[in-house]
Amino acid sequence: MKHIASVVDRVETKGQEFIDLADEIWSLAEMRYAEFRSSELHASAIERAGFKVTRGVAGMPTAFVAEAGAGGPVIGFLGEYDALAGLSQQSGALTCVPNPDAATGNGHGCGHHLLGAASHLAAVVARDYFAANNIKATVRFYGCPAEEAAAGKTFMARAGLFDDLDVALCWHPSVASSVFMNATLANVQASFRFHGKSAHAALAPHLGRSALDAAELMNIGVNYLREHMPDLARVHFAYINSGGASTNVIPVLAEVLYTVRSPHSGDALDLFERVKQIAEGAAMMTGTRLDIIFDKACSNVLHNDTLDRVLDANMRAIGAFDVDARETEFAKQLQNTISADDLANCSRHFAAALRDPKPIITEILPYHPDVARPVTGSTDVGDVSWAAPTTQCLTACYAWGTGFHSWQMVAQGKQSLAHKGMLLAAKTLAATAIDLAGKPDVLHEAKQELHRKRGSRGYQCPIPPDVMPPPRRDASGKA
Ligand SMILES: [Zn+2]
Repeated sequence: MKHIASVVDRVETKGQEFIDLADEIWSLAEMRYAEFRSSELHASAIERAGFKVTRGVAGMPTAFVAEAGAGGPVIGFLGEYDALAGLSQQSGALTCVPNPDAATGNGHGCGHHLLGAASHLAAVVARDYFAANNIKATVRFYGCPAEEAAAGKTFMARAGLFDDLDVALCWHPSVASSVFMNATLANVQASFRFHGKSAHAALAPHLGRSALDAAELMNIGVNYLREHMPDLARVHFAYINSGGASTNVIPVLAEVLYTVRSPHSGDALDLFERVKQIAEGAAMMTGTRLDIIFDKACSNVLHNDTLDRVLDANMRAIGAFDVDARETEFAKQLQNTISADDLANCSRHFAAALRDPKPIITEILPYHPDVARPVTGSTDVGDVSWAAPTTQCLTACYAWGTGFHSWQMVAQGKQSLAHKGMLLAAKTLAATAIDLAGKPDVLHEAKQELHRKRGSRGYQCPIPPDVMPPPRRDASGKA
């Protein structure tokens, strides 16, 4: 662990530059596939740092790959920078109030401004270390757009961009620090558009065929399906078009967006097929026509225990950061805005480690993958983890109990705790990369573990080959 002191020192030295980058991306708050300025801020900065940048990879203008070094193990750092719709929030406010300076109504409710900046910093620090110590290694930083309600990395995985990696490293801002050891769900998202026949609803109802009826029957059918789904499967829907506001016109068009989730990619695709059959049945019942518009999909995360143990050792060697009285007081006040149910829900996910959590959890939680509860959300890091051995950490960037995709998370995104958590992540990822570069046997074992876990079928991208990014839907949800 000789490298730890050097990594810590280098991240601290360069830290402010990357805190500024994260803050700027927080303010831009650009949504999926529209992260033009955020992506370019990353791409041009890493280009100035001496990386060779390829922009617009996998058919996405806001995706890029930056590479430095040659030969040796190929080490990838994953970065994100997309915000969420409707979460504009004033920094540091203790009530839900939109950011007065925001150009958009979006907000960084999942901390991806921190995620991208720390991974970027880790890539630069690792590259500098390899260069200074004459260690052969290839370092890549992946600019991954559209994680939220999209699947930038799945398109990148389908394009084979992660296939030659010896290791992929990522992290996510959280309310505590540890290896990211929870299972996540695979998902599939598609829109079901019904075409009916319009008619006057009173004068000629027998001539009309209601697209809205079809959408409603589809939803009823799916609600009956729920009893017969795998454990932990989830199905959500939202009306994109409910057929108009007139009661006296039979709706000619209705559209429902569905997200289907299940613990394993294959199960999610099977469940999606059943949802499709229900939609076809609804179209048949109503004499309407159905178009299915595939939006996106992502795989469940394949954890790599071999790599996770190395990451855990490095994170512990770096150690927890301190918080001051002001940060603790702010966290306490923020917790007052979070309901008891939400706090209890947060505790359930970390129950093994925390009986009576403080406002800010600074300790590094133990690595206990066997007792970690599944996170019943999804991440497109899942597809990277099927293509290459992948390890991730979480760090405490937010007060205990803060919900993901909440205004409270946006409000804390530029506070000092978020910055401290971001730097801990950068240190952990850079240190893990450097440690692994000197351990070819561990990298080999990690690859063997991946081959074992993904089985003989290997990685099958859940997005069909004819579905192209970016999706048709714009920020307002219109097709
Ligand atoms: Zn996220």
